[in-house]
Order: sequence, then structure tokens, then C-alpha cells
Amino acid sequence: MLIDPYQFQSVRVENVVREASDAVSVRLTLPKHYDFTPGQHAVVRVPMPDGSHLIRQYSFAAPVSTGELWLTVVREPGGQVSGWFVDTAKTGDAVEISHPFTGPLVHKNPYGEICIIAGGSGIAPLMAFVRELRSKQKSFTLLYSTRTNEFCFERELSPLAGEDITVRLTDVSPRLTQEDISSRISKDMSVFICGSRSFVLTMRDYCKDSIPPEQLHSEAFTLE
Ligand SMILES: Cc1cc2nc3c(=O)[nH]c(=O)nc-3n(C[C@H](O)[C@H](O)[C@H](O)COP(=O)(O)OP(=O)(O)OC[C@H]3O[C@@H](n4cnc5c(N)ncnc54)[C@H](O)[C@@H]3O)c2cc1C
Repeated sequence: MLIDPYQFQSVRVENVVREASDAVSVRLTLPKHYDFTPGQHAVVRVPMPDGSHLIRQYSFAAPVSTGELWLTVVREPGGQVSGWFVDTAKTGDAVEISHPFTGPLVHKNPYGEICIIAGGSGIAPLMAFVRELRSKQKSFTLLYSTRTNEFCFERELSPLAGEDITVRLTDVSPRLTQEDISSRISKDMSVFICGSRSFVLTMRDYCKDSIPPEQLHSEAFTLE
């Protein structure tokens, strides 16, 4: 018997929104009875021009309460699947999506105020947090470090009342420092970090003297 660990379902690209020259948000058909929470991801199976299929993980960029399934993909230089999404994906294209998988960012009732620290494509799952917090009219702190060519959600990230949002474009400004982080976090917060492994390790290090470990939640998208 063949067991499919992904339980792939065929879906269509419903909409493609260009976020930046190297990033897109893609709305896929929301399958029936498909439920997910901010911080979860799915495995996506994408057709390549040579007829092969490749699978990669992508996070949900909006909560399911919106009734829509959005992924945000940032180009990995030379990357095959992210390149397909950024350069080729168009309305009507067919892809396959697995059931949702849970990772370390998923916490139903995080303690205290929320601080979100995103690096590059790490903004994708954390944007689902932002959108959910806004729908519940809860304030939050967001520090988002990215390059201009990957800067997503520029308009949506204008701060609303009570929100503290800092965007650092690392090709034109210094990177986030220990002082940037320390000045915005306190032991009464939960901190969510996502990005490359080196970004996550650096940010965890900046947080470690201010935040109890059980309030520090992070996910790395890369092995380096
Ligand atoms: C849980 C999780 C959630 C994620 N969520 C998101 C998300 O929401 N948004 C997002 O943008 N990303 C996300 N990612 C990352 C995503 O899964 C992919 O890893 C990313 O898009 C790169 O895939 P790719 O096919 O474009 O790159 P690949 O083709 O796999 O290439 C990756 C890198 O390896 C290099 N490379 C590949 N083959 C070779 C070779 N033969 N020789 C030399 N170098 C090579 C490429 O140049 C590139 O730099 C997530 C990852 C995880 C683990």
C-alpha cells in the first residue's frame, strides 16, 4: 500500500500580486474543509518547464478566517521553485498542496504582548500573525529586515494606532542591532522570529537576556 504523507490536493492559482521585483503573493484555491493557523505551512508541488515536479514548503501568509489561502514567495537566487513563483506563476496554473503542517511558530495562546521579528521571506508566516492580530484589534511590535527587492506588504505595513512597526532595508540601511531589539522587547512579551538560520540565531541571541526561553518562538527557513 502506498501511503501519501502529504495528501496532495490539486488547486489553482487564483491571483498573483507582485510585492517587489523578487517577491510575489499568490492566492490559491482554498480546498474544502482546509483549516490552518498562523505559523503553519504546507508542502507545495509545482510543475517545472521540463515536465518534472518539485516540492517545497511555503507558509500561510494570512489566517484562514479571511476565507483565502495566500502564500508569499521570495526569490532564492538561482532557486527553482521560488523562481517559478516569482517569474512564471499566473492565474489558472495548477499546483498541488499538502495538508497543513505545524511548526515551532504555532502557539494558540502566547503570553503577553507580541513582538514579531522577520528577516526576508520570514515575513510570510509572520504576516499571518499581523493580519490575525489586527482582526482582533490587538497591538503588536514588528521588526522586519529585508532588501528593497524583497520588501513585501509595503502599504499594509503602515502602522495603525498602537502598533510599533520598524522596517529595515538592509541594502540601504544598517542591519538590526542588539540595541534595536533590546529597546523594543520586555520580559512580558512573546517573541516570534522567522527567517534564514543565521538571522534567527542572531535575533535569538539578541533576545536571550530579555525574554524567558519559553516565550521565544522561532523557525528557520534555511539550514545555513
Ligand atoms: C517550514 C518552511 C516554511 C517556508 N516558508 C516559506 C515562505 O513562506 N516563503 C518563502 O519564500 N520561502 C519559504 N520557505 C523556503 C522554501 O521552502 C524554499 O526553500 C525556497 O523557496 C527555495 O526553494 P527554491 O526551489 O527556489 O530553491 P532551490 O532550487 O532549492 O535552491 C536553493 C539554493 O540552493 C542553490 N542550489 C540549488 N541547486 C544547486 C546546485 N546543483 N548547485 C549549487 N547550488 C544549488 C540555489 O542557487 C539556491 O541558492 C520555507 C521553508 C521552510 C522549511
